Amino acid sequence: MAPLDVVIIGAGAAGLFCAAQAGQRGLKVLLIDHAAKVAEKIRISGGGRCNFTNREASPAKFLSDNPHFCRSALARYTAADFIALVQKHRIAFHEKHKGQLFCDESAEQIIAMLLSECEAGGVTRWQPCKVAGVRRTDSGWAVDTERGEVHTNAVVIATGGLPVPKIGATDFGLRLAERLGHRIVTPRAALVPLTFDAAHWAPFIPMAGIALPVAISTTNPGRRGTVRTEFLEDLLFTHRGISGPAVLQISSFWRGGQPIEIDLAPGRDLSADLADAKSRSRRQLANELASWLPQRLADTWLALHGPAADLPMPQLPDAARKQLANGLQHWTLHPTGDEGWRKAEVMAGGVDTRDLSSQTMESRLHPGLYFIGEVVDVTGWLGGYNFQWAWSSGYACAEALAVA
Ligand code: FAD
Repeated sequence: MAPLDVVIIGAGAAGLFCAAQAGQRGLKVLLIDHAAKVAEKIRISGGGRCNFTNREASPAKFLSDNPHFCRSALARYTAADFIALVQKHRIAFHEKHKGQLFCDESAEQIIAMLLSECEAGGVTRWQPCKVAGVRRTDSGWAVDTERGEVHTNAVVIATGGLPVPKIGATDFGLRLAERLGHRIVTPRAALVPLTFDAAHWAPFIPMAGIALPVAISTTNPGRRGTVRTEFLEDLLFTHRGISGPAVLQISSFWRGGQPIEIDLAPGRDLSADLADAKSRSRRQLANELASWLPQRLADTWLALHGPAADLPMPQLPDAARKQLANGLQHWTLHPTGDEGWRKAEVMAGGVDTRDLSSQTMESRLHPGLYFIGEVVDVTGWLGGYNFQWAWSSGYACAEALAVA
């Protein structure tokens, strides 16, 4: 094979986009993936409709040991830039919630768009093709693949994070980075449902399937004292714990052993609402509570914590009213774990950004070696931010490759 300008390992969101951009800048690009199917995570994303970006994408919506690292790439390739590309390909989309953009039809349209952009850039794709190793040579890099050894000026690692191993996630990028001397921020599952010990959660199982809007918060030690993070989103009760957008969001900030606090009636003053109801209603407590909460939640809560569900409102003691309202609006929970890589949407941690250039994504230790996408210690909130990071980091890398 003729000498290559760049070999990109991983044909997911970041790898496909970077390959297309580099190819369209005139570079000779080989894109390799060990999976038979291209971009499986795009295919399953957003419930099959791919939440491909967020209109509100900004550095504040990303977690990293260095929160400033993502700034340059996000500024140089923005959500508006990707939206323009989607429009150029005539893919219909809609805004669902808080700036989140989804395809009207199917995530397959985003994959087709990326493949056609790769085609426009003359990208060669080897798939499925296993990669045994990457090593430095006198003139660049050698990539050892099951189709033979290839020589290239630059290598881009776009092998993603650890979530969902059954569709091809591996620790290839992390192991390679570590072997070549890069620091690694310990990976952990993020955007993931939280779980509890079976015995502790058993009384709450009757609530499985209930979804409701909540305010959810946790507190972390920050550089300048403790930092409280709160989200207003929907929570879903499950048989093993809690899920839904509220929980996925807070899971990225939650650390084992810490409590989380849930307000089951955000924006209300339940104590005042109950006092008002007491003065005018003769209904039973559970029925009154169901004015503000799902009935099954109200019933289960009262069965567990009291007072009696059938207590007529006029007989509700003030102390019990305050305790009930306080319990529902300041529910403190101690998750014992999470659903792990099988269910996580993203990996927090990854290749330490101290060893990468934020302008180009190039390794500071090995010129010609680049890391993009989820393998890097940059993790977006729920809502299209992780794909935006894949596009922005892939773009920054392609620009750098073209001038290298
Ligand atoms: P990936 O897209 O994961 O691509 C990595 C590629 O590398 C894969 O094709 C893999 O096969 C390949 N690879 C891995 N190891 C090797 C190896 N050893 N050799 C060769 N190839 C290898 N984000 C959003 O912004 N919006 C959403 O709607 C959304 N929904 C999601 C839903 C689910 C269920 C999941 C799991 C994630 C979702 N995400 C979403 C997150 C998003 O999919 C990822 O952050 C994004 O795909 C990361 O892009 P990437 O290119 O870095 O990695």
